[in-house]
Amino acid sequence: MGADQLREPHGGTIVNGTAGNSMPQGFQHPMGVEEFRKHGKEMVDFICDYHANHLQEAPVRSNVEVDYLRRCVPASAPEEGEDFNAVLTDVQRTVLPGVTHWQSPNFFAYFPANSSYPAMLGDMLSSAFNVIGFSWISSPACTELEAVVLDWLAKLLDLPPAFLTVGPDNTKGTGGGVIQGTASEATLVALLAARAQKLKGRDAADALKLVAYTSDQAHSCVMKACMIAGIQHVRVLPTSAQHDWALQSQVLQEALEQDEQQGLLPFFLCATAGTTSSCAIDSLELLGTLARQHSLWMHVDAAYAGVAAICPEHRQAHEGLHLAHSFATNAHKWLLTNFDCCCLWVADAEPLKAALSLTPVFLRAKGNALDYKDWQVPLGRRFRSLKLWFVLRCYGQRKLQEYIRHHIALATSFAARVRSHPAFEIMAPPRFGLVCFALKGQGNEVNKALLESLNQTGRVFLVGTELGGRFTLRMAIGSATTQAHHVEAAWQLICQHAEQMLANGQHSSIAN
Ligand SMILES: *Cc1c(COP(=O)(O)O)cnc(C)c1O
Repeated sequence: MGADQLREPHGGTIVNGTAGNSMPQGFQHPMGVEEFRKHGKEMVDFICDYHANHLQEAPVRSNVEVDYLRRCVPASAPEEGEDFNAVLTDVQRTVLPGVTHWQSPNFFAYFPANSSYPAMLGDMLSSAFNVIGFSWISSPACTELEAVVLDWLAKLLDLPPAFLTVGPDNTKGTGGGVIQGTASEATLVALLAARAQKLKGRDAADALKLVAYTSDQAHSCVMKACMIAGIQHVRVLPTSAQHDWALQSQVLQEALEQDEQQGLLPFFLCATAGTTSSCAIDSLELLGTLARQHSLWMHVDAAYAGVAAICPEHRQAHEGLHLAHSFATNAHKWLLTNFDCCCLWVADAEPLKAALSLTPVFLRAKGNALDYKDWQVPLGRRFRSLKLWFVLRCYGQRKLQEYIRHHIALATSFAARVRSHPAFEIMAPPRFGLVCFALKGQGNEVNKALLESLNQTGRVFLVGTELGGRFTLRMAIGSATTQAHHVEAAWQLICQHAEQMLANGQHSSIAN
């Protein structure tokens, strides 16, 4: 590429043709390449200051009122373009107060949404290329890097070889990986593939007989996928504290037999390796065996915990994964890759294409190149593998393992604090970076009040869940910058608020 092509991609004027038949004047963008160079550097400074200063001081959970923003911005877009610095000033003034700081080291809510500088730089480059890589030819690098990077990650996680695009013997198999936006999309795509496979060669009316199975601990995206796909029968199977909230194969078997007796058509099982609520782990070995016996497609949702398999000692949850047809984990939760980056692998891509491939004339390609548009719901797709590639290369296996172990060690020591404190109890076995706990012998209202009083301080942000009808606090440790002293301070804060709450409770019960 010539230097002058680089200089003004948007600013150049078009040389006009013959007199009287001239082309229109060129369009001048308010921000040309030199302005971008300048503001781009300012933006990096802004981001660095945000990380170094603002994140350390601001309340973790935003405390604005509903509709706060409308009150501080104009009702309509400006007639004339404004100075970029004016925009940045308004980010500071109006946007920042309404940001809940997911990148705060004191963010312990939901599951983490990691970011890292290599990922941000990869994302920036993806924005700059801004290719729409739906087919191989629409941007060969976009497709090929994605296949390579997902093979890399599959090997780091020690996934079954069937999930690789290019297997250990250096040949292409039937499977492969693809980046989806979210785990919810991955679940939907798996379900659509399973449906296509089951209905192949059958009567259209059989679609109404399809039955999908999951547990009451599965993410709501499973139910949503069933809603979208119009699945008439969904069995949300019960779990219990006795089995640590994992789906029991016995329970699945009974449901399958009942449905088969009724002439229904079981087709899909979504197992979870690390549930959102308590990080429960379904036995893939037992469920997978049953799924094979009954010709079900088993999808494994490991949105959060799947990446822990980068450490050999944290691979127990994946025992039996070779029995799964598809597996998804989010690099955008706990693997330092900015949202969105859900990695989905399938052992056989044919059912996926059967469900999702439609090729209008203008998209028809020669040969059998990989066209990722056939592996997802939308047509367009971003160059998302860049950010994951940057992360895998800049950190390397060793640092990524150290990173996962760091958070698990923090969670383990937090759980030990909770256990040794007489006022608290552990509500589910601590797993990975998640510790579920509650005030012992106190009702749901007291535990909810404790959570709210903690969050109101702005010094931490946690969310709750319900386990067997009991309100439970969730301490999800996994922010990219969380260190031992942050967890220690959070624990001190929790103790202090709990003691205050219990003292007030006693006081009011004496007064009554
Ligand atoms: C977070 C989570 C999801 C949803 O993830 P998205 O990528 O936001 O769709 C699904 N399943 C599990 C187990 C999760 O923890």
